[in-house]
Amino acid sequence: HQQITHSGDSDSIKVFVRVRPLTQGTGLTTDGDQGLCLTVTSPNTIRLHSKPEPRTFTYDHVADMDITQDSVFSSVAKNIVESCINGYNGTIFAYGQTGSGKTFTMLGPSDFDNFTDDQRGVIPRSFEYLFFLINRESENAKSFLCKCSFIEIYNEQIYDLLDSASASLFLRENIKKGVFVEGAVEKFVTSAAEAYQVLSMGWRNRRVASTSMNRESSRSHAVFTMTLESKETAKEVVNIRTSQLNLVDLAGSERQRDTHTEGSRLKEASSINRSLMCLGQVIMALVDVSNGKSRHICYRDSKLTFLLRDSLGGNAKTYIIANVHPGSKCFGETLSTLQFAQRAK
Ligand code: ADP
Ligand code: MG
Repeated sequence: HQQITHSGDSDSIKVFVRVRPLTQGTGLTTDGDQGLCLTVTSPNTIRLHSKPEPRTFTYDHVADMDITQDSVFSSVAKNIVESCINGYNGTIFAYGQTGSGKTFTMLGPSDFDNFTDDQRGVIPRSFEYLFFLINRESENAKSFLCKCSFIEIYNEQIYDLLDSASASLFLRENIKKGVFVEGAVEKFVTSAAEAYQVLSMGWRNRRVASTSMNRESSRSHAVFTMTLESKETAKEVVNIRTSQLNLVDLAGSERQRDTHTEGSRLKEASSINRSLMCLGQVIMALVDVSNGKSRHICYRDSKLTFLLRDSLGGNAKTYIIANVHPGSKCFGETLSTLQFAQRAK
């Protein structure tokens, strides 16, 4: 049982809504004529053209179609990377229906492998900023050790994207490490360039697994974790702190429409809903806790929430990027994403 007894920073969970362009990319629509189901009305409000009345939703930030990848990074990730350097855990999620731009936001354009591209996403930019800060801090007798792991949660099973040959892995917890994936490969990195290599290797494995192992990537959660250990020596006292930065490309949030799916595909759909549903419940409970209520937080109810237990709530910083598609055909899924994101407020 995890009963959070202390109240976290009431602003520890933030929500950024990003509207993707209507027709760019290969996503859901090639139909440039379809109307828009929403309007961005200010830097923190969005109006959904619902019937009979339009509805306005408010978030920490709402970004319209023309926002650059760099502005998304600055609004969402900079602070979190800085707090990681200072010893706090952080998590950034990309949430939304398939085709809404989650992978574009986190990684970059599809089949992306060019980390100098302007279109690179939050993850490579976070590496660059992290190592920029590390190099700066290292001048003050503070040293850092960084290691990365990259796993995929599919059908409530955990797979190591850095070791495609490994069988599914289990979560464990102990006092020293908190919750961790037992046996997951951890790669030490000393620069952004080395971190890109780890990222691309995992991403390639994810793509391969989606064809050869039938792990459809739109149905899986990809979790990239950077663990930082900082060591500072002041007046002969050595101070060591560990923190984690989790960068998560969530499974598509769309509901399973085909009610005739049976067997493994049905199981798949329900367990993906389980991790996403649990994430929603954990976030709602954390919001209550930060408003002073005492709540049981059901981290253990899904692999995703248990893995991220120590990086959600408390002193950890969380940003949810809710990706939405503005096309009128996507009204239903966009409404459901906006409602999910609203629960975090
Ligand atoms: P998801 O990961 O949510 O399924 P993707 O990130 O793969 O969605 O986006 C679907 C397609 O739309 C991709 O080809 C992607 O490059 C493109 N795309 C998404 N968002 C944007 C954007 N903001 N600007 C340009 N292209 C985008
Ligand atoms: Mg994707």
